[in-house]
Amino acid sequence: MPERKQSENELIASLKVFGSRISGPARAKAELPFIPLPESNKVFEITELLSQSPLTNDRVLYIHLPFCNQNCTFCGYYKEIHCGTGLIDKYIRKITGQLELLNSYPWFKEKPFHAIYFGGGSPASLSTSQLTFLMEAVHRFIPQNLNTELTVETTVNEVNQTLVNNLVQLGINRMSIGVQSFNTTLRQSVGRISDRQKVIESIQSVHSAGITNLCIDLIYNLPGQTIESWEDDLQILGELPVTGCSVYPLIPFPDSTLVRSGNFIQQTVEDAFKYFTMADDFLLSLTNWTPFTPVQYGHVTAGEPKYIKAQGQQSDLLALGPSAGGRINEYQYLSKYSLETCLSAGFNFLLNSSWSSVHKDYISFRHLFSLSEGAGILTDEILSIDQNFADLIVGLLNRKLIENIDNKYVMTSTGRFWAGNLSQLLTREICYLLNKY
Ligand code: SF4
Repeated sequence: MPERKQSENELIASLKVFGSRISGPARAKAELPFIPLPESNKVFEITELLSQSPLTNDRVLYIHLPFCNQNCTFCGYYKEIHCGTGLIDKYIRKITGQLELLNSYPWFKEKPFHAIYFGGGSPASLSTSQLTFLMEAVHRFIPQNLNTELTVETTVNEVNQTLVNNLVQLGINRMSIGVQSFNTTLRQSVGRISDRQKVIESIQSVHSAGITNLCIDLIYNLPGQTIESWEDDLQILGELPVTGCSVYPLIPFPDSTLVRSGNFIQQTVEDAFKYFTMADDFLLSLTNWTPFTPVQYGHVTAGEPKYIKAQGQQSDLLALGPSAGGRINEYQYLSKYSLETCLSAGFNFLLNSSWSSVHKDYISFRHLFSLSEGAGILTDEILSIDQNFADLIVGLLNRKLIENIDNKYVMTSTGRFWAGNLSQLLTREICYLLNKY
């Protein structure tokens, strides 16, 4: 393990500023003054929005495949367990129908998408013919270029050579595997099926099939986890052919079995800092690895996560499927419907979602979140924004939460730990700017 760079003193100093740690982006940005669109106006406004040309080049697309064959105790994602093939077929046809429909709108078809992400559930629950049907429609209807990133996320248990070879043939160029921990006892205590050996073999088989951009995620604050098992997880990662890693604390979803059973114990901020710092120091000691976002690390070229980066920088995101949420310009939406509802005749994924909007100047300021989401902000840009913002930057520099590297303000390691709190400060600054202009 590399020598620790962050001191307890820095944690104590930050605690005095923030009080408690915000670890989820949703809570950090909750103060943005979005107002629900009235039902009477919704169809008209969304149709107008999609009829315009896209304003940015880094739009990304998310397709939710809400099917899973596991039931992890910490899971709070919308999913249907052990769904029949017939229902999955219907859903895939619905998705491809929506893509064809979207392809008639200028906003959708005029520029290539920067990244497409298939999440779940576990998209690997689909059969070969279902994946092929879906991917043919993806390539037919979604504008892409040679650099478009196509990511599939999967659980370890579903990885096999046939699946991965098939994904490569269908154009998938990045995979994200939900590892959580290599420790067999820990994995199985939260409902994961595979053991350490299967995890290692899965990673090696994805790599040997030709997926060179391969990310895994590791979670801290799992029940029963120790700092020694966490160190072990990191060491194993360092020996495997992965090019990226997401590291984050377990999210206590209120509907998860873990929280409902009363078995979730919130880590103290001091303990969270120990786990975070160990991972941050270790991952940045790997050759040419960088923090792309506060939770996503990877090799600077081979491990670039385009979708995740664009998400963090608040780029436009078109998200399709139950429980998915997206944003276009000054609008955002949440798809609150169930699988059953969205399969009904005439159902439209976007028009049947709940939409809200904020002042149209928001699109001039939303990129400021790049500071708390990892990309950083050019130092020259600060002065052109506002004195309040310049003062905020000076305060963050003085507290060593950000630093100036090559004329860019970026978070320090301690800043990454407090990234949710920094997002909240930026949210407040953006609210102030929206009121001012
Ligand atoms: S594999 Fe993913 S979607 Fe399925 S239960 Fe586990 S966390 Fe949830």
